[in-house]
Amino acid sequence: MSEDPRPKKVVVLGSTGSIGESSLKVARDIPERMEVVGLAANRSVDSLAGQIAEFDVKQGCLYDPTGLDQLVSQVSTDVAIHTGEEGLIELATMPEADLVLIAIVGVAGLRPALAAIEAGKDIAVASKEILVMAGEAVMTAAREKGVRVLPVDSEHNAIFQCLEDRSPSDVSRLILTASGGPFRQLPSEQLAHVTKAQALKHPTWEMGQKISIDSATLFNKGLEMIEARWLFDIEMDRVDVIVHPQSIVHSMVEFIDSSILAQLSTTDMCFPIQYAVTYPERVPNTLPPLDFAELARLDFEAPRWDDFPALTLAKEAGRAGGTLPAVMNAANEVAVSAFLRESIPFPKIWETVSETMQSHTPILKPTLEEIIDADLEARRKAEQLIA
Ligand code: MG
Repeated sequence: MSEDPRPKKVVVLGSTGSIGESSLKVARDIPERMEVVGLAANRSVDSLAGQIAEFDVKQGCLYDPTGLDQLVSQVSTDVAIHTGEEGLIELATMPEADLVLIAIVGVAGLRPALAAIEAGKDIAVASKEILVMAGEAVMTAAREKGVRVLPVDSEHNAIFQCLEDRSPSDVSRLILTASGGPFRQLPSEQLAHVTKAQALKHPTWEMGQKISIDSATLFNKGLEMIEARWLFDIEMDRVDVIVHPQSIVHSMVEFIDSSILAQLSTTDMCFPIQYAVTYPERVPNTLPPLDFAELARLDFEAPRWDDFPALTLAKEAGRAGGTLPAVMNAANEVAVSAFLRESIPFPKIWETVSETMQSHTPILKPTLEEIIDADLEARRKAEQLIA
């Protein structure tokens, strides 16, 4: 244990979303270890104003400038409020920040993540898009700058805990666990008829709408496979998935001696967030411990690859690399929002993604601009396919 329990100074980008709220719960739980110094939200003015007052931060960002005047009128006059992408970058590079936790949904977190790395900050990543779209570039930049990319997603955080900085050559497989989503046991022929309300009902985790649909299609797991590939420098064919309905084993690592390490806890995002903040130390908290006698059993089953094509599409995107993962991600975002508007049936989500991917010629080792262009082009193509 370090002699110096100075709290880590943390910027939270996306503080009013579900992960953002959990990270502030962690800050309340372990204030001697985590001090919030910057907060950014998209457009939830009232929540952001409340958080700024509670944590007494002096730097805030409202991404959508529409509510700027309203926010400024609600916070103390010594608080600087920024807006837009420049605002996020301002917070991500704050001189006093030790760690930037990025929990913004979508592509908006990408440039702030790279700016934080460039400024020498460790980043804690909860936004899938960062590693899916630009995993190679982000990890290369982090290695060059000597900063950490700490995973906040429960699966990657579990793998991170099991690996403890071991070399990829010690690993035979990463095994991501998947809850299987609300349609784990639904007969294949009924998948075409599921409703938005059914798809939003996740069995084990409380989450936002986009990620709930991604859990129902298994695109969430597909995106996580790609993230794991870059985060841990393990090629796609050694990234595996097992369905585990209880979501208690958060993921596992199989080593070359065929021993497996797993990380377990109750299903609460505060666990991975706290470890990302206190790493490499562990500190006590008020979270509920696991009761094995009460659990009684943990189940595992093979994923239904044929009924949930998201997994195969993700493997294909992760193997090809370059711009293809960004294309998969963008097409999925467009298709999910169409499904949430109830303008397409459930299977049309993966059909749209598949067709958009087939129409794209991947660029290898892309620049950030090429990634963003591929993302935009894929959005246009997916919109056309849906219209
Ligand atoms: Mg996850």
